[in-house]
Amino acid sequence: MNSEASRETNILYVGSEPALPVERPETPPIYHSTANIIADMDDYDFASKGGKYYYCRTANPNRDSVAEIVSYLEHGEQSLVCASGMAAISTAILSLIKAGDNIIASRSIYGETIELFENIVKKFNVTVTYADFTDVKSVQAAIQPNTKIVYTEIIANPLIEVTDIDAIVQAAHNANALVLVDSTFTTPFAIRPLEHGADIVIHSMTKYFGGHSDITAGCITGSHIVMKKIYADYLLFGGCLDPNSSWLMLRSIRTMEMRVMKQFENAKKIAEALQQDKHVRYVNYPTLSNHPQHELAMKLMPKGCGAMLSFRVEDSRDKVNAFMHRLKIVKYLGTLGGYRTTIAHPATAFRNDFSPEKLLEMGMEEGLIRISAGAEDSADLIADFKQALNVFEEN
Ligand SMILES: *Cc1c(COP(=O)(O)O)cnc(C)c1O
Repeated sequence: MNSEASRETNILYVGSEPALPVERPETPPIYHSTANIIADMDDYDFASKGGKYYYCRTANPNRDSVAEIVSYLEHGEQSLVCASGMAAISTAILSLIKAGDNIIASRSIYGETIELFENIVKKFNVTVTYADFTDVKSVQAAIQPNTKIVYTEIIANPLIEVTDIDAIVQAAHNANALVLVDSTFTTPFAIRPLEHGADIVIHSMTKYFGGHSDITAGCITGSHIVMKKIYADYLLFGGCLDPNSSWLMLRSIRTMEMRVMKQFENAKKIAEALQQDKHVRYVNYPTLSNHPQHELAMKLMPKGCGAMLSFRVEDSRDKVNAFMHRLKIVKYLGTLGGYRTTIAHPATAFRNDFSPEKLLEMGMEEGLIRISAGAEDSADLIADFKQALNVFEEN
């Protein structure tokens, strides 16, 4: 309290600093402050050169903690933490391109990434070519002298296709193009794309990093050289993660390996059980020996191939709806990667974006159901799927 100041003034100042020393808390505090007090102009110069925190969009301790552990997990030098996966993808792409460039993208990437290319990137006179990334020759054939970025995911939705990242990196680097990998489905516990030569790895942290379906976030990781350019633009685009969500994210990452390894294991067990069920036509999961890229997947991801799988039943909208109602534990959600098992229906998710013919061409039949395996007891999950699959016997 300042006894010389009035009540109106004191109300704005009293209680803003702790009375006792705050020493070594077991969990980090949340630094909500959007700014830190600057002593003088020399101090400002020091802060603005990165010497200390002074403005939240530029840098924040909670966000920097998340960036540090993401770099650690991905074996990268520097990470930027964004307000969503799409903020991470758009920041990375838009900061690296210029008019006249070409991007080669996998045709089976996240739907909104394709929309970003089609609706935004193309406005700036950048061409985007789509290729089949399960076939390196198709990627090589698409490369042009102005190809600047080769963009892919390692496990692609919803058919759980696997990209031969080593071959793609080689083809891209021969043409002096940068390789950007969206590794959301794989997580650093299945594969670390930078170790395979990728230049940048991106995650929607809304999925496995957050892991509890309660934080929206994303990240970009690479070497200092590549990240320097992205960082300058990231500050201008302004898509940084807020301190509260950053704090929650750090907490989630502490248990990520335990969650995700159990989820990988459960995905494998569910895939094996579904493959035995007479109502299931086929299961898409890379550890299954009949997966078209089984050997490649085992070489790239010996510790587990992620927790995403899909399977096909009868192409009957009514019966698939009945199956969804019959499930007791597993719920239908418009996301993935949480600690509880969820399903999604790819054809429904894309019905407004593609024609019925295109959906079939992309493998999204009416009977295709996607599973994001959670960390429950696998026997309970298998029993739940099996009892619900009985709807396909009824008329
Ligand atoms: C969810 C997702 C995104 C987008 O992330 P948001 O956090 O929803 O913006 C990008 N890529 C993949 C593979 C995703 O699953």
